[in-house]
Amino acid sequence: MHLTLDPAYPALGGDFFDTVDPADFPKAQLRFWNTRWAQAVGLGDLTDAGREAHFARFEPLPGWHEPPLALRYHGHQFRQYNPQIGDGRGFLFAQLRDGKNRLLDLGTKGSGQTPYSRTADGRLTLKGAVREILATEMLEALGVYTSKTFAVFETGEALHRHDEPSPARGAVLTRLQHSHLRFGMFQRAAYEQKPENVAALADYAITHFYPELDAREGEDRVAGLLEAIARSSARLTGEWMAAGFVHGVLNTDNLNVTGESFDYGPWRFLPYYEPGFTAAYFDETGLYAYARQPEAVFWALQQLAGALSLICGEEALIAALNAFPPAYRTEFQSAFLRRLGVEQQDADSDEALVRSALTFLRESQAPWEAFFFDHFCGREPQERDVYTGEVYQAFTDALADYDPVRPERLDHAYFKRETPVHMTIETMEAAWAPVHETDDWSALHALLDDIAEARAGYDLGRDRTGFLTGDKA
Ligand code: AMP
Ligand code: MG
Repeated sequence: MHLTLDPAYPALGGDFFDTVDPADFPKAQLRFWNTRWAQAVGLGDLTDAGREAHFARFEPLPGWHEPPLALRYHGHQFRQYNPQIGDGRGFLFAQLRDGKNRLLDLGTKGSGQTPYSRTADGRLTLKGAVREILATEMLEALGVYTSKTFAVFETGEALHRHDEPSPARGAVLTRLQHSHLRFGMFQRAAYEQKPENVAALADYAITHFYPELDAREGEDRVAGLLEAIARSSARLTGEWMAAGFVHGVLNTDNLNVTGESFDYGPWRFLPYYEPGFTAAYFDETGLYAYARQPEAVFWALQQLAGALSLICGEEALIAALNAFPPAYRTEFQSAFLRRLGVEQQDADSDEALVRSALTFLRESQAPWEAFFFDHFCGREPQERDVYTGEVYQAFTDALADYDPVRPERLDHAYFKRETPVHMTIETMEAAWAPVHETDDWSALHALLDDIAEARAGYDLGRDRTGFLTGDKA
């Protein structure tokens, strides 16, 4: 695999970005490098010096002739429209093509100030970077379509934050994902009353991510795009819900047209089933609580539709939006069954199985992750106190009618463990504490090894390995 660069976004023109300079960091110490994904995109042969030059100093990749681009967008934050946001601490560094000729962005977080930094420093804390590494690695292992953390360097800067012990260590992170085309980009173009820019973004999305729509014309094309985005978003939401993942900040600038999960701030995984579980301490009303995520994504899609209404009639857009609720229900069920490692049947039986599982999870407050691990492929679970009673029996009776998918996965070492990797806040903090206290990275590395084992054990990649192999399977 060799590196294939493609400056697709810069070709959109100056209305869509501002050129910026990366920060000049006092030091660059490599803290995370994604070997698998570096190989997959043709960056596997970079030397240590090359990694630092490109992913800490942000010298352009060989053959890339564009400056870093802070992307322009607006967005609804907690339902308030904010026309002052945009890439405030990141930029588009480069774009490349994978082995299947699909477009990928390398985007940064914490790489310095931009015209959108407002009063903030444009930086990322090391803990923020570690949290993003853990979220992306865990979600990938659980079969969720997510951005990948590509590289993290510690920068030697001391940062001040009101929600972290300060001074906090600084870092810069690069992530890899198909698109940074946020709903908020369309909103910005609409806000500026530039239908031609809404159309340009829609064309970009179709050309690069939904080429099957390219033959369509007029309203059919735009509404088709909205429906495709609604379906991708439904799939992602279903995957989050089955993973027990709470993104935390489902603002319209944190959702993109490819339905890839990205931008990890105050995320949490459910310790146990609790519909009102809220990740962000500043989400006082629980707007983005676990069970409200489908509604939040649907609301965001409606704002995207509002922006698209500059170039498409309302009726067609409403019809496209209506694809979301049933698609979400189907996607949640199939993601849930993938996590249990069993074959889908008809929609009614699948729904009954999922309902029996959720009833049990609610009543027992069993640890979320252990439940899937223990019953994977319908295996005989280990003895645990909670696995008893009528509600549990109803679930196991329902599960008994299901055939396992590739039960040979149970032979993997991961399933010999007593407990699975469960990325609770306690797990995350336990890996971070030694880094913070004594600069000891061994617990974090051990946790990353455990996640890699989970990824290999579940082997959900065959359904959807993230995006390089068969993500639209
Ligand atoms: P988020 O809630 O992380 O999605 O960020 C919302 C907006 O705030 C985006 O425009 C970010 O770029 C910006 N932002 C967040 N943190 C910082 C920071 N430390 N410096 C500059 N801009 C930031
Ligand atoms: Mg964001």
